[in-house]
Amino acid sequence: MLEKIMPFKKPIYITRPILPDLNKVVEKLTKIWNSKWLSNNGYQHNLLEKKLLKYLKVPFLSLFNNGTTALITACKCLDLKYEVITTPFTFPATPNALIWNNIKPIFCDINPKTMNIDVDKIESLISTKTTGILAVHVFGTPCKINRIEQIAKKYRLKIIYDAAHSFGVEIDGKGIGNFGDITMFSFHATKLFHTCEGGALTYNNMDFNKELALLKNFGIKNENEVILPGLNGKMNEIQAAIGICVLEYIEEEIYKRQILYSAYKNFLNNIEGISFIDELPNVKKSYQYFVIKINEKNFGKSRDYIYENFKSYNIFTRKYFFPLCSEYPFYKNLPSANPKLLPNAHKIVDEVLTMPFYGELYVEDIENICKILKSFRNS
Ligand SMILES: *Cc1c(COP(=O)(O)O)cnc(C)c1O
Repeated sequence: MLEKIMPFKKPIYITRPILPDLNKVVEKLTKIWNSKWLSNNGYQHNLLEKKLLKYLKVPFLSLFNNGTTALITACKCLDLKYEVITTPFTFPATPNALIWNNIKPIFCDINPKTMNIDVDKIESLISTKTTGILAVHVFGTPCKINRIEQIAKKYRLKIIYDAAHSFGVEIDGKGIGNFGDITMFSFHATKLFHTCEGGALTYNNMDFNKELALLKNFGIKNENEVILPGLNGKMNEIQAAIGICVLEYIEEEIYKRQILYSAYKNFLNNIEGISFIDELPNVKKSYQYFVIKINEKNFGKSRDYIYENFKSYNIFTRKYFFPLCSEYPFYKNLPSANPKLLPNAHKIVDEVLTMPFYGELYVEDIENICKILKSFRNS
């Protein structure tokens, strides 16, 4: 007889933010209040910058009020124009940052294993108008950076990486923010490390420090000169203070998520039709999301069936990144958005499911979630 599985008493979401001890936050806020300095390179801002340079193992970093403004500013800083090659399997912010720079996104299909941009399909999309590649380390799996660099060199293209899912990811001990011309991190509340809303750019070119400082502060050079059409992308003192408090909890959160990660892999091991994203041996993983792939033929039920039926157990998973960016009404008429050219992206987007994954969960919760998932097969 089948064991009856009870729904969770409280709703289970895919993530919960790290919430630091409120007393510690108030302590920091008191300092800010006393200083009467709320934005523009304040003490907390500069302290967080220092701490993140160290944590991310990067030479240079510039903080922003969110990841999207950071990305928009990165395109401007690199003077990207006309056409940039990107992926349809990402969050809307990625291609939208191009449109805000008057750049046409050229969608490239993905590798079905890593879900990242398929480096073997990039070259066929390069035209005389191509100025860059905007690639995403999807779910924290690093892109094929060597190959992308080769292509960029050959055609003199700039590279931006969207590392919104990749806080703390390293390749052979090197921080993920060291590659390409500029890398963007998001510190939104749903991300592993957060400042409520926030983001950063990292880079190896020291000249970008000055350029980005101007671009994120209206282009103001000094009291008498405004030299660029900049926007307002600055991180404020309260965001930075939250970030400093959250950073104290990062290692503990990662440790907890490591245990949950192993639990998922254990409980879902050898289930026909369920698979995981491959782990790369030289990569320090991201603990941003736990993602499974469901092959409907082999599992017997579709991703959408699982997603819908989890809800009656009070489990709210997400279909990241459905719909594909190339299917948005404002992109779908682009020639590169033609589904025939994006077969892997269209297949993967119907198979992926982002599962509940945050430090507050217990191994028993994961066990239950997996039991429920398995029960769907015979329902
Ligand atoms: C979260 C996210 C962003 C946007 O970052 P914000 O800080 O929310 O603006 C961009 N790209 C990807 C892949 C993301 O997941």
